[in-house]
Amino acid sequence: MASYRETLETRPITPAVAPGEIRDSLPAEAPEDGEPLDRILADLDRVVLPGIVHWGHPAFLGYFGSTSNGPALLGEMAAAALNVSAMTWKTSPAATELETVVLEWIRRMMGLPDELTGVVYDTASVAVVHALAAARELAAKDIRRRGLAGRTDLSAMRVYASDQAHHSLEKAMVLLGLGEENAVRVGTDGAFRMDPRLLERRMVDDARSGLLPLAVVATVGTTSTASIDAVKEIAEISRSHGAWLHVDAAYGGAISLLPERRAETEGMALADSLVVNPHKWMFVPLDFSALYVRRPQLLRAVFAREAEYLRGDAGAGAPGSGAVDYMDFGIQLGRRFRALKAWMVFRAFGRRGIADRIREHCRLAAHLAGNIAAEPFFSLAAPVTMGVVCFRFAPPGMDAVAADRANEAIVESVNQTGRAYLTHTRLRDRLVMRVGIGNIATEERHVDVLWDLVRSAARNFASL
Ligand code: PLP
Repeated sequence: MASYRETLETRPITPAVAPGEIRDSLPAEAPEDGEPLDRILADLDRVVLPGIVHWGHPAFLGYFGSTSNGPALLGEMAAAALNVSAMTWKTSPAATELETVVLEWIRRMMGLPDELTGVVYDTASVAVVHALAAARELAAKDIRRRGLAGRTDLSAMRVYASDQAHHSLEKAMVLLGLGEENAVRVGTDGAFRMDPRLLERRMVDDARSGLLPLAVVATVGTTSTASIDAVKEIAEISRSHGAWLHVDAAYGGAISLLPERRAETEGMALADSLVVNPHKWMFVPLDFSALYVRRPQLLRAVFAREAEYLRGDAGAGAPGSGAVDYMDFGIQLGRRFRALKAWMVFRAFGRRGIADRIREHCRLAAHLAGNIAAEPFFSLAAPVTMGVVCFRFAPPGMDAVAADRANEAIVESVNQTGRAYLTHTRLRDRLVMRVGIGNIATEERHVDVLWDLVRSAARNFASL
């Protein structure tokens, strides 16, 4: 692990393997008898590493990079060595109490109100399922007991989110039996923020048609552009229709660690539920997602269930107290000791250390945006609010569809070099390039390498 980290920057980011190649190089069945560890470790280098995309490489600027680091690695190793399940307080008091402490640290670092109580899940996609399950129980009584099928007393329940919100919403709707067509996508303004007037109009129209406004999802840091919805305004509209407000701050919640950026996100305090992923931009490696809810007892009312074999282990204390049984706040029983790595990262960096790195990432994004804006044939495709930069190459005379293809080809060509990595997205139906800066090791020189590679790939289409 140490040598991997030391040599990371010298490795090509993307592997040169064909689909199935790695599987084909391995036996079809598990070995009958155990093998010596040195042989297994040799195969880790020989078979596995050549098939890895090196997300930790400082010039990997795809998606929302998740960063490992020394303290986090040690935390993961210690958690693996302990291998406890944080399902009830009694099954490992320290795992539970550390989870409570870390959740309170995150809440305070973000300036969220004390009324929000947290629970750790693996991902934001899982968190939104739990949040909407609680909203559903509140809005339409007795679903836990009676379910949805065959109910004539229930109307379709609608959840509203912007056309930029994450698709985990639709997955949650499917899983909760609410139907993906009841996830209503609301249009956005020129800066890709939900248009509150359109939201209001959709909610009024739906209410007139007898549909139940279950919840609104506001996003702080959307997946494509990191736009920030007007959460305060959305909260008022949501409240006036009796709908639950879920704030998806999976990526962008981290920006609230910067005192100078607090005002942009203060509406988060009005959330009925809020998710933030420290594994996106707080330097805790995958996976660690924190859901905060205003009514933890409601979550408990949906998910707590007694099991004879756990009697005596469970039932320790109230949510928010040290002695909570976290298994009562979600579908999982066995729960990894995720809090340990987060605790080690937060202690090793401090709030200031995390905030300084986030601030630096924003500076690097602004630096890249400045270069893009100054370059002929390139333009920014969205305002740069955090560590995300969306941009498009469109030389004169090239039609929009051809430009889509050119942008895609540039991404592909940069990634094939193995020296830098970016992704693409679609905005207003046009393909654009996307850079996400969030890796702890990324410096200005890495961003500059990527930009040079983009420009040189673009020369295949126009003389720059
Ligand atoms: N919400 C937003 C805004 C995201 O960008 C993402 C993923 O990128 C998610 C939710 C889903 O996160 P997870 O991978 O933790 O489920």
